[in-house]
Amino acid sequence: ATPTAVMVATGVGANNGVLIKGGDALEKAHKIKHVIFDKTGTLTQGKATVTSAKVFSGMERGEFLTLVASAESSSEHPLAKAILGYARHFHFFDEPSAAADAKSNGLESKSFEWLHDVSGFSSLSGKGVQCFIGGKKILVGNRKLMMENAVAIADHVEGFVVQLEESANTGVLVAYDNELIGVLGVADPLKREAAVVVEGLMKMGVNPVMVTGDNWRTAKAVAKEVGITDVRAEVLPSGKADVIRSFQEGGNVVAMVGDGINDSPALAAADVGMAIGAGTDIAIEAADYVLMRSNLEDVITAIDLSRKTITRIR
Ligand code: ADP
Ligand code: MG
Repeated sequence: ATPTAVMVATGVGANNGVLIKGGDALEKAHKIKHVIFDKTGTLTQGKATVTSAKVFSGMERGEFLTLVASAESSSEHPLAKAILGYARHFHFFDEPSAAADAKSNGLESKSFEWLHDVSGFSSLSGKGVQCFIGGKKILVGNRKLMMENAVAIADHVEGFVVQLEESANTGVLVAYDNELIGVLGVADPLKREAAVVVEGLMKMGVNPVMVTGDNWRTAKAVAKEVGITDVRAEVLPSGKADVIRSFQEGGNVVAMVGDGINDSPALAAADVGMAIGAGTDIAIEAADYVLMRSNLEDVITAIDLSRKTITRIR
């Protein structure tokens, strides 16, 4: 494209909250074959909410929730924030929080005295968290985390987790002193426009794909809701860039849409990286496009803009 055409398109983009980082980005987007969407915070609202909490040991419910919240208090993960908000609400009001309340009961709370002291905290990417409370190890995360620590999952517990996953929830398993003591179900609703955008892309001849670190069963349930058939699940953060590269084989132009720190290698590996505006600085830096309004419709706006600019030139 000519410098003038790039300038015009950049201006049109900016007016729509689509930040285009240069002529190269503008030129590549018209050839996009696959759009790879991160699930959490991109297709979904990133506002996870605890939908159920089941204790499988003799432990009292309040004590269970305080234990889990304490372990998650150093994590930045959306799941951790949801669990903290839920446990805090239970602690102060002795009842589970309504979904609508979750935000106001989140990490912005000043009072954390009710939480236990935690030592040796570590965040295990794609798996969960680990730390020590009262000299005993606590693990909060997925099956992989439990298996690696040789925590046994009884059949009735597994059954409960499967049930959660089939209804698009993420099952968060909790082990204390190497015993599985409970499970929480966490749901993150789809963005309102997600399904329409997926359908729109298909009509444009673009293949929508979902990639996630979440488990296969939850991933498929969410994908089905949004109308995506091409899914890659249980992908470790380091593996998202590999997924991009596999779609690039044969010279296909691939776009990645994501928001998190985890997504920046994939945003960089993609031919066209699109960062969601509310995302992290590092993701925004790795991207070719920044969608300032955090609205997925702007993925279509960006491709349209590129197509129009290119055809006008030729
Ligand atoms: P994504 O952003 O695609 O959901 P992540 O790599 O962030 O992927 O997480 C993958 C999975 O690891 C989650 O679905 C969850 O099961 C587990 N996990 C990660 N962090 C936590 C956490 N802080 N607490 C509980 N589970 C977690
Ligand atoms: Mg994510």
